[in-house]
Amino acid sequence: MDDYKITVGIECHVQLNTNTKLFSGVDNDAVDKEPNSCVSPLDYALPGMLPVLNKAAVEKCIRAGLAMNCKINLVSRFDRKHYHYPDLPKGYQISQFYQPIVGAGVVHLPDGTDVKIDHAHLEEDAGKLMHFDNYSLVDLNRAGTPLLEIVTDLPGMSSAAQARLYCEELHRLMIYANATNGDLYQGNMRFDVNISVSNTDKLGTRTEIKNLNSFRSVERVVEYEAKRQIALLKKGEKVIQETRGWNDATGKTTTQRSKENAADYRYMPEPDIPPVVLEQSYVDRIAASMPMMPADYRSKFDILNLDESEREAIINYSVLAKRLAEACDKNIKLSPRIAHWFSSTLLTEENQDKNFSLATADELIELSDMVEKKELSSTAAKEVLMEMYDKKNTSKTPHQLAKEMNLLQENDENALSAIIDEVLMMPECAKAADDVRNGEMKAIGFLVGQVMKKSKGKANPASVNELIKNKLS
Ligand code: MN
Repeated sequence: MDDYKITVGIECHVQLNTNTKLFSGVDNDAVDKEPNSCVSPLDYALPGMLPVLNKAAVEKCIRAGLAMNCKINLVSRFDRKHYHYPDLPKGYQISQFYQPIVGAGVVHLPDGTDVKIDHAHLEEDAGKLMHFDNYSLVDLNRAGTPLLEIVTDLPGMSSAAQARLYCEELHRLMIYANATNGDLYQGNMRFDVNISVSNTDKLGTRTEIKNLNSFRSVERVVEYEAKRQIALLKKGEKVIQETRGWNDATGKTTTQRSKENAADYRYMPEPDIPPVVLEQSYVDRIAASMPMMPADYRSKFDILNLDESEREAIINYSVLAKRLAEACDKNIKLSPRIAHWFSSTLLTEENQDKNFSLATADELIELSDMVEKKELSSTAAKEVLMEMYDKKNTSKTPHQLAKEMNLLQENDENALSAIIDEVLMMPECAKAADDVRNGEMKAIGFLVGQVMKKSKGKANPASVNELIKNKLS
């Protein structure tokens, strides 16, 4: 946009998928539960209750940090962040302000650009307010859910598209690291977006839009805010530092409140929780247990020459990425076909609920090899593929399935030859046969078609073509 540079920073709250809450022993999964049914006296902030740190949450933070190539701080501490709101009965949120658990790192995006991470800190989620006509109710099921807040560093992102790409990659990383369930609809990841524009070397005044829960809204917000701010500056007006709300229906942001500063929160060390002190060997053990990450798969799949969209569609499903990588290790030549099957056949709307782990790499290779050897047409192979993802078929090989489904192509020359002889004797084929004998090869298509029909589609058309030519020459 003209000579204005856009700078975007993003803070993302990730709900960690631990079994229990951050400081209490109650269920951390409140999906479809009655309001206030997953709440301990601690989450109600009854007097005398003391928090006990959930070790699993610490481990999830380390996994998330490693996924973002971040330094893991061996000593971190908790602080109280004071603010008043009905969904926060304590009057403060336990967070990490001075010494967060995850230090600086970098997220590599699929387009080859990088986004720097400043830090990520562990904190508790607040409850939820439910608004009715003239009253509101508090649901504390979510109060105390562990959150990892991931904060980007300058230079940040420079476009709406890059901001979206970052959020998408962060989502992938957190799921690969098994740090979150990643359900955006349930608020498992919420994005706070800072935007400023400037036509000098100095950063412009920023506005912040909080609690976005879709990639698309992040992209739209950045587009809208950048345009709005540039228009203001061009008119000689100023951008006011503030928090603005996003309306998905109107596609506009509106003033909410002026931005508070850290000092307003009266941060102070949390006296009820001792510092978190980690052994390097503990962090190393977690690092050794990390799976391959999206960036690893991208370089691994380089050799397959996939379209970027095809590659990313597969990487969105870690099970499929893993299977394809295993296939590459076994047989590179047969793997591109498997990649195409994944991206074009398996990853369609109606297959979303399939268990993608059912077919093994060996079976996929076998199926691809059957197409390669012309034992199966590519259309038939897709039918077999879908059956391989049916639970009742897990004990069957692709070959057994293809046979059961009557899809194996007839390559046996004797069998094919017999069918061809029959076809050539059919009166309706006499003219075409004569034409071929006289060198009019166009007519062979008709004969091949008849053979295919007689074989119920199982004959291999290329072999049939060859055999007919030999017989009529
Ligand atoms: Mn926060």
